[in-house]
Amino acid sequence: MSGNGTKGTILVVGGGISGITAAVEASEAGCEVVLVEKNPYVGGRVAQMYQYFPKLCPPACGMEINYRRLRTSGLIRTVTMAEVASIAGEPGNYRVTIAHQPRGVNEKCTVCGACVPVCPVERPNDFNWGMDTTKAIYLPFETAHPQQYVIDAAVCAGASCNKCVEACTYGAIELGGKSRTEEIHVGAVVFATGWDPYDAAKITNLGFGVYPDVITNVMMERLAALAGPTGGRIIRPSDGKGIESVAFVQCAGSRDENYLSHCSGVCCLASLKQATYIREQYPDARVYIFYIDVRAPGRLEDFYAARQADEKISLIKGKVARIEQDPSGSKLTVEAEDVLGGGIVRQTVDLVVLATGMVPSKIGASVPKELLKDEHGFLTPEQAQPGIAAAGCAKRPVDVAACVRDATGAALKALQSCTGGGPRE
Ligand SMILES: Cc1cc2nc3c(=O)[nH]c(=O)nc-3n(C[C@H](O)[C@H](O)[C@H](O)COP(=O)(O)OP(=O)(O)OC[C@H]3O[C@@H](n4cnc5c(N)ncnc54)[C@H](O)[C@@H]3O)c2cc1C
Repeated sequence: MSGNGTKGTILVVGGGISGITAAVEASEAGCEVVLVEKNPYVGGRVAQMYQYFPKLCPPACGMEINYRRLRTSGLIRTVTMAEVASIAGEPGNYRVTIAHQPRGVNEKCTVCGACVPVCPVERPNDFNWGMDTTKAIYLPFETAHPQQYVIDAAVCAGASCNKCVEACTYGAIELGGKSRTEEIHVGAVVFATGWDPYDAAKITNLGFGVYPDVITNVMMERLAALAGPTGGRIIRPSDGKGIESVAFVQCAGSRDENYLSHCSGVCCLASLKQATYIREQYPDARVYIFYIDVRAPGRLEDFYAARQADEKISLIKGKVARIEQDPSGSKLTVEAEDVLGGGIVRQTVDLVVLATGMVPSKIGASVPKELLKDEHGFLTPEQAQPGIAAAGCAKRPVDVAACVRDATGAALKALQSCTGGGPRE
């Protein structure tokens, strides 16, 4: 597929669940799709989750089905390590420049792994939020799509080292690659650029970055994951010990004019889910969830009620004022107002998980300036041109089911611009 059709081709920016869904739905309606993802893999944040609420199944199963749909579609060209540098034109006829970064490893890679032990350079593993390291040549994660190693050019010593090239018997490694641009023509664009976690280090009273046993909810997903930095053992980062008690701090920075004024909608359910991770691994552990309001809409109320019924899980209505080291030196004390019980509660625990919110991911500065955003930086549902649509968490923080519905709608909107049908007023 050339990707050079004027009408009938859609560009999808962002290869998370929303972008993949938009791509697959548009292709199944007969449209060509170019799916552009800045990471070396598709799957987005969902790929980093251990389990999904409410079913508590591993996201890898559903994602594998989606990866197969991408592979077998015939109409979708998936481009990783790429971003959109510019877009010009009008609905039905956009000229797009894509900027590609070199991967350093080509399709001949069989994922044999012979390159890894010989690589002398270690780097923080961003997929695991820096809780472990990889070599400069690495597979982003076990089930990554595409199944192909990648070289972190920022730390690789290049041809002066050359050890991976010598170890690779397939001729798959290409050191010294240069970034390049490509121009394509498309009829419509869907932005599915998703979210980033709010930077917990900005929240001055909750001890993130000060106490190693204060972690964030996204770190907890990786700690619990079997392929995560601890092989799925939820342990204290400070001393590797097991957990007897955990506090979840809801709205960590969220619904707070000082930090993030919006509610991310899914953090309550994420913490209730993560409480289950703890309870399954440590049947005697106590879990304390400090909340302002618990938001579990619709059928997710049942998921909430099941955790409420667990006598080892205490839900305490009150905003956490501070987190400090316990005088013993090895534990943490969480101080909050107990709105329903009255007074101040001070709870000593082994681990604190901050339920930080979701912020719009940084969209490359060079994408069209006329992209409309709301006061929180999310893309607005209605964009200036009908040929540009937004989908999933690029628009607002939502769960996966809502992203899938939303991305299907965005694909339909894009199809209307591509085929000249125009959106309905
Ligand atoms: C702690 C936590 C736990 C959660 N658990 C669950 C759960 O159990 N169940 C559930 O339903 N939901 C859960 N969610 C919500 C879920 O993570 C989101 O609904 C989902 O990730 C949204 O998918 P998305 O594709 O819209 O965005 P993302 O997953 O963020 O994907 C966006 C993609 O776009 C790419 N991208 C960004 N900018 C660019 C660019 N300029 N160019 C190219 N590519 C770009 C990114 O690299 C990424 O791959 C959880 C959220 C949190 C915070």
